[in-house]
Amino acid sequence: MILDGKELAGQVRAELASRIDALRSAGRQVRLDAVICSGNAGGEVYAASQERTCRQMGIDYRLHPLAEDVSEQVVLESIHRLNSDSSVHAIMVHMPMPEQVHPDRIQSAIDPVKDVEGVNPANIGNVIYGRRSLMPCTALAAMTMIESTGVRLQGKVAVCVGASRIVGRPVAVLLMQAEATVMSTNVHTPDLAAMTRQADIVISAAGVPGLVTGDMLKPGAIVVDVGINRIVDPETGRTRTVGDVEFDSVSRVAGWMSPVPGGVGPVTVAMLLRNTVEAAERAANA
Ligand code: NAD
Repeated sequence: MILDGKELAGQVRAELASRIDALRSAGRQVRLDAVICSGNAGGEVYAASQERTCRQMGIDYRLHPLAEDVSEQVVLESIHRLNSDSSVHAIMVHMPMPEQVHPDRIQSAIDPVKDVEGVNPANIGNVIYGRRSLMPCTALAAMTMIESTGVRLQGKVAVCVGASRIVGRPVAVLLMQAEATVMSTNVHTPDLAAMTRQADIVISAAGVPGLVTGDMLKPGAIVVDVGINRIVDPETGRTRTVGDVEFDSVSRVAGWMSPVPGGVGPVTVAMLLRNTVEAAERAANA
């Protein structure tokens, strides 16, 4: 079965619409503020699409553009201003920042209760200690896809392919939190296939096209493909987007699989909105 990201994202948005309405009726406008530096073409495209989506959802989206040669101090001051403004519920920073600005220091400066991308170390720390927290959106999207299958995670073996700070590691932590048995792998893992063959759930976030193939899987496994890779199609000569998972061979063995495009991507955007609404609700109840 295909894990349809667009459909799932639509369900999440429908649920959020009523929560946004409830906040509005209580006189609270949900607000997301984003900081971006010039010269980040990818970030500008993403920001424009966020603005459209937020407008459709009734979320007030405000973009704060800074110059490409901005100092780290100025970026930090802009974050501090947003932290102390009670009308701002949610803050995100478009990466990458220019090289004179250290991303770790910027991300750590975001107030954890407004950190809707879950990039402040305090947020992942909270999950490790079993507390409610805002988590990185892509990791949440992968978990939401797994949960949408209705499969009980306790007693299941999960393999995370890739262990980056933004995707692989947070996914592993969320799966541990759900009491799955988790293996975290990386580029140095000796025999990846030996591990994935034991897995009921495989999440691939390596950025390697065709890394996960059908012969590496247990029949019926849930396969979530986080990879976004641009490749030149050898047949058409055109550039296209593929994941880490070889669709044809995996679709013959897996029980559930997410496609690329149309899988984790749209759910990730929905998770940013969900974190934003959650931050606004918590501020309203504080
Ligand atoms: P990264 O380069 O920071 O990390 C890649 C990880 O994969 C590393 O831990 C590395 O050791 C591991 N890896 C590489 N080759 C491997 C192999 N052969 N076997 C096992 N592990 C291997 O990448 P990232 O930022 O985590 O992104 C991973 C992929 O996910 C990329 O394709 C990226 O574009 C995509 N991504 C998608 C979304 C989304 O919303 N869908 C969001 C973020 C990233």
